[in-house]
Amino acid sequence: MVRYGPAVLAAGEWINADSDHPCPICYGVEGCGTLRDEGYARCLEWPSERPLVAGGWLHRIEIHRRQPVSASSGSRPAVD
Ligand SMILES: [Zn+2]
Repeated sequence: MVRYGPAVLAAGEWINADSDHPCPICYGVEGCGTLRDEGYARCLEWPSERPLVAGGWLHRIEIHRRQPVSASSGSRPAVD
């Protein structure tokens, strides 16, 4: 079982939300933040099942990593 205690929050590098990095949960630009490279966000507006002691709630972010292109001929436009 994975627990989301203060350790994971303290170990990571938090990026405070601003106009360049809005909250991925509520799109707010003040008070919220994201945890760099960890796929978590702290949102002060949108509740989750993981409230934080410091305020707000912890949210899991789905990160869509770019897949390496296997084609040798470079990038190809996406086709619907
Ligand atoms: Zn937020």
